[in-house]
Amino acid sequence: MSLLSEPLQFVSDHEAPAGAGHVTLVGAGPGDPELLTVKAANALRKATLVLYDNLVSKAVLELVPASADRVYVGKVSGHHSLSQNGIIELMVRLAKGGRRLVRLKGGDPYVFGRGGEEAQGLAAAGIGFDVIPGISAAQGAAAASGIPLTHRDHAEALVFATGHLRGEGDARGAELDWVQLARPRQTVVIYMGVATLPTVSAQLQAHGLAADTPAAIVERATLPDQRSIVGTLATLPELARRHDVRAPALIMIGTVVSLHAELGGAVRASAGA
Ligand code: SAH
Repeated sequence: MSLLSEPLQFVSDHEAPAGAGHVTLVGAGPGDPELLTVKAANALRKATLVLYDNLVSKAVLELVPASADRVYVGKVSGHHSLSQNGIIELMVRLAKGGRRLVRLKGGDPYVFGRGGEEAQGLAAAGIGFDVIPGISAAQGAAAASGIPLTHRDHAEALVFATGHLRGEGDARGAELDWVQLARPRQTVVIYMGVATLPTVSAQLQAHGLAADTPAAIVERATLPDQRSIVGTLATLPELARRHDVRAPALIMIGTVVSLHAELGGAVRASAGA
C-alpha cells in the first residue's frame, strides 16, 4: 500500500478549509447503522475525509457523502495495510495540511480500538480532536443475543478483557490476570478472542471457574448474519471450532449467559447449540 507516500494527494485534491485541521474519532458501533449515536451520524453526514477500518460496516459507511474521500486503513488478510504509527502519522499529516477528518472505528473508539493511542498521537502533535463514543460490541452483542451483561441474580461486576494474549501470535499481547477473571458473580467479555478461546477456557478452568459455567460466542453481533453459540466454559472452544466461528466475535462467560434461553427469542433459532 502506498497510502503513506500519498497523503498529500488528499490534501491537494481539495481546498484546505481555513484554519487548522481537526480529527474526530467516531465510534461506528457494532455494525447495525441504527446503533450509531445521533452525534456520530451527523459527523459522518458532514465528513469530507474518512479513515476507516475493517470493523466498520458497509451500512455505516453509506452515511458518508459520495463526494467524501474514504481511506481504508484496516487489516487485509491478517496484516495491516498501515501500521498503527502509520495511521497516526497519516492523520497528523492530513490535519496539518488543514483537513478536517473523521477517524471511524468499530464499536467505541476507547474500547480496544487503539483510539487511546491515536488520541495520544494527535495530542502529542498538537492536533485538535474530539471523540464521539459508540456502542461497544459487548453492548451490541448483549442486546442482540439476549444476554444481559449484569443481573442481580448473576453478576455484580463486568470485565472487558482482550483475548489477544502474549505468546499467542504477538509478543505485545496481554498477560491476563486469570485469578481475577475466574472469580464468580461477574461477567467476563473477551474481545479478539476467537483464536485464543481454547487457552482462555483452559486457563479459567485451571484457576477455578467451573467447567459448566455458561459461555457464549456471538459472531457479527447486530449484523443481519449474527450467530450466537451457547455452551459452557468447557464446551465452547469445540462448539466454536465446529461452527467455524470467525472474527469479529465476542466471548461472554458467566451465569448471565444462562438467560439467553429465556431472553434470546428469535435469535435462538440461529444458535448452533
Ligand atoms: N472498539 C471496538 C472493539 C475493537 S477490538 C468495540 O468497542 O467494540 C475488535 C474486536 O471487537 C473483535 O475481535 C471482536 O471481538 C469485537 N467485535 C467488534 N465488532 C463486533 C461484532 N459486530 N460482533 C462481535 N464482536 C465484535
